[in-house]
Amino acid sequence: MHYDLIVVGGGIVGLGHAWAAAKQGQTVAVFDTSPKAEGASIRNFGMIWPIGQPAGTQRKLALRSRELWQELGAAAGFAVDPCGSLHLAHHDDEWAVLGEFAESSAADGLDIELVSPEQIAKLTPAANPSGLKGGLYSRTELRVTPPTAICAAAAYLADGQNITFHYDTAITQVDTGRVISSSGSTWTAERIVIATGAYFQHLFPTEHAAEKLRLCKLQMMLTGSQPPGWKLGPHIASGLTLRHYLSFRHCPTLAAVKERFAKDAPLLDEYGIHVMASQADNGGLILGDSHEYDDDIEPTDKAEIDDLILQELQKIMNVPTWNIAKRWHGLYAKHPAQMCFVREVRPDVLVVNGFGGNGMTLSLAFAESVIHAWPNSALSEAVPQA
Ligand SMILES: Cc1cc2nc3c(=O)[nH]c(=O)nc-3n(C[C@H](O)[C@H](O)[C@H](O)COP(=O)(O)OP(=O)(O)OC[C@H]3O[C@@H](n4cnc5c(N)ncnc54)[C@H](O)[C@@H]3O)c2cc1C
Repeated sequence: MHYDLIVVGGGIVGLGHAWAAAKQGQTVAVFDTSPKAEGASIRNFGMIWPIGQPAGTQRKLALRSRELWQELGAAAGFAVDPCGSLHLAHHDDEWAVLGEFAESSAADGLDIELVSPEQIAKLTPAANPSGLKGGLYSRTELRVTPPTAICAAAAYLADGQNITFHYDTAITQVDTGRVISSSGSTWTAERIVIATGAYFQHLFPTEHAAEKLRLCKLQMMLTGSQPPGWKLGPHIASGLTLRHYLSFRHCPTLAAVKERFAKDAPLLDEYGIHVMASQADNGGLILGDSHEYDDDIEPTDKAEIDDLILQELQKIMNVPTWNIAKRWHGLYAKHPAQMCFVREVRPDVLVVNGFGGNGMTLSLAFAESVIHAWPNSALSEAVPQA
């Protein structure tokens, strides 16, 4: 009942800290309210996405996470596919951004090249050739299927790393050295990490509120299985995506892309829609997504958003079936100004949260740096600005 480290939250952020500590020989326990992980970490695209991270510290963390995902997948027996990514340009202004990005230092650390429509046809059967100007191919991105990967990772951490998992256990109180569950049970530890993602209102609500975290809701879909043998190849991203990820923000040509979408399709901005596709292990395509924040979030999903996502994807992609097998939404917490935040809320109790749409890409490496550096009050100052 006494551990070196207790982690509250069994999503990727919690698992990352648990794994890093166990590798150092620490005794670790992970607590999660749910019977198994059900949060953002199993509801996402499964894109490990260094190309979306700004060059510098954040990109380096993404590249280190890439190595850690490959290590974890090999140890835990889940697929980590080095599929890469392909940004398609169907407009001249999008092609200009891709060219500018490829030539600039913004591309540091990535293995990328600009590709012609003919080369794209060899990389993926899914690109719509009509009006296609070219694309940006990167060999750096990885693909995991989130529910499978998170489940297998937790099983490996339990069996292979001796981490104790307490599922179905809501932690309702945390003090230095101990956590207490809703049923009144107490566990003690030298150190505690709180990684509760979008459910941040329950533990240390004041400290979370001080960071002004934003809650974001994203709508997603999964197609039925594509025909046997049909492979998407790299993850597909569209011109809309250029507006979304920080890595492209230094490209002066981006302004024209933003202006065109704002003028021609204001609903895409209103719902924060940019479109991407990734292929799940069962052959279906994971499609998304939208971004609605804080007071705009409703419990129910909007059919209009799903229709807009599909319309935009169908402009840039041809796939054998667009039949939708599953629809869902996910919630994440996003720090308004930084990549994430880490704060010692009590002596030896650390809160780590706010990765927004990049938690799968960044958190394994970030957790490793937290565990290696702790106790180190400078850690919070080292988090890159967004
Ligand atoms: C739709 C969608 C698509 C995304 N796509 C990508 C992508 O392709 N690539 C990428 O890098 N990122 C992506 N992200 C972001 C990424 O999924 C998140 O940043 C990441 O999963 C956050 O992990 P987490 O561990 O903080 O949260 P979660 O996975 O939500 O885990 C938090 C856990 O804490 C538990 N918990 C909460 N309170 C308590 C308590 N009091 N006691 C016990 N347990 C508690 C919850 O049950 C939950 O399991 C996406 C997110 C969404 C929603």
